Amino acid sequence: MEHKLQVYNTLSRQKENFEPLNPPMVGMYVCGPTVYGDAHLGHARPGITFDLIFRYLQHIGYKVRYVRNITDVGHLENDADEGEDKIAKKARLEQLEPMEIAQYYSDRYHFNMGQLNVLNPSIEPRASGHIIEQIEMIKKILATGFAYEINGSVYFDVLQYSKKYPYGKLSGRVIDDLMSNTRELEGQDEKHNPMDFALWKKAQPEHIMRWPSPWSDGFPGWHMECSAMSAKYLGEHFDIHGGGMDLLFPHHESEIAQSQAANGTDPCKYWLHNNMITINGQKMGKSLNNFITLNEFFSGTHTGLDRAYSPMCIRFFILQAQYRSTLDFSNEALNAAEKGYKRLMTAILNLKKVQASASTGPELQKFLVKFPVDAYAAMDDDFNSPILIAQLFEAVKWINMLIEKRESISEPDLHEFQRLMNVFAFEILGLTEETALDSSESMDGLMNLILELRQLAKNSKDFATSDRIRDTLKALGITIKDTKEGSSWELGS
Ligand code: ZN
Repeated sequence: MEHKLQVYNTLSRQKENFEPLNPPMVGMYVCGPTVYGDAHLGHARPGITFDLIFRYLQHIGYKVRYVRNITDVGHLENDADEGEDKIAKKARLEQLEPMEIAQYYSDRYHFNMGQLNVLNPSIEPRASGHIIEQIEMIKKILATGFAYEINGSVYFDVLQYSKKYPYGKLSGRVIDDLMSNTRELEGQDEKHNPMDFALWKKAQPEHIMRWPSPWSDGFPGWHMECSAMSAKYLGEHFDIHGGGMDLLFPHHESEIAQSQAANGTDPCKYWLHNNMITINGQKMGKSLNNFITLNEFFSGTHTGLDRAYSPMCIRFFILQAQYRSTLDFSNEALNAAEKGYKRLMTAILNLKKVQASASTGPELQKFLVKFPVDAYAAMDDDFNSPILIAQLFEAVKWINMLIEKRESISEPDLHEFQRLMNVFAFEILGLTEETALDSSESMDGLMNLILELRQLAKNSKDFATSDRIRDTLKALGITIKDTKEGSSWELGS
């Protein structure tokens, strides 16, 4: 099938035909997490959005090199050039090495992404592992005259740059507004202009993470890592750069300026940004106590939650909105998402049980021709997952008609219908069938019931049945322990 994929480019502010630089190769860089705390909904959305894009590009035949970084140094508080490094601060509070913090939270991030069925990127570089590349790029920027060194730190000269290139072209910010909106130069500020941003910062004595450089013992500015690492793994001009809309300014705007200054080119062809998640209509923020982590969603342990919600419920909730739309979280919205997800999964399971007939009914025949066309059209229109999901629910209606024997389907059509449902629901949307056993609550209830039935068998001296229950569970990796007080179970044999 021919795909005319269109993507919305933040840079041109319109949908453009997707034409990769070197097909079938596609290079995609996405800004990953700064690892100093547990992942929350604000991490789940870019994780799932770019997973959907990664999956779909591969599905339609591209070979995608997907680079998603880990920020483990240089991201200072309030995304500013002053203040403590986010990871170093956490390390100081916890009395750990900064790299212990980075490792701990990257491991937890990976675990959460796995629960959401987010595929691993092809390369996951860390800022601290690419100091040399960042220093080399800063040298190039200094050589072109778009940066200056002062007191061992190096800053990007925004005003100088804007004389030649349009600074603000991605975010739409205008240099004159930036000039008048930024605070007055304070006495201790060493920058020529408040708009300038750090490429290299001289480390204060208490700063633990530091590396030697031609300018000082210090560390790279936050924006440098993405410019240096994307160029290293994808080239100086690659296809897609993605991230959350909160990164548009200053992070991505600065990345463009750095790449243009150092390499003489825009870093990429298409800029893709996912919109933000609000919680009950409010922005997420520490002061509002509405930063709900994914672990809290999965366990239901946050006061803002009525109960636990499974990873697939969260995934389905996020996919129900187009990635450029805002998405508001509430318990009601998640309940609705869970119902929808379960209805879809039940239908796909039911489709496996449908008995084929000699022929397919004419109306269903028409639907089966139209269904993939409409479903692919939705995805080709800037990855419009909610429209795809609406198509899947159209399919659910037909599956229910088949189950109720109000419609008939031939053997080849049935196989094709099953294949299409698998492709769209599992391969492209990345859903998985969550069983009752994925929720610990249901698992407990189920196991208690089994242990009760086994006890009943024992009481009536039906040892064949009680042994069979024990042995079957053992084969499934569940061990039953019999003691005088009764029986208990644990995972593992
Ligand atoms: Zn970045």
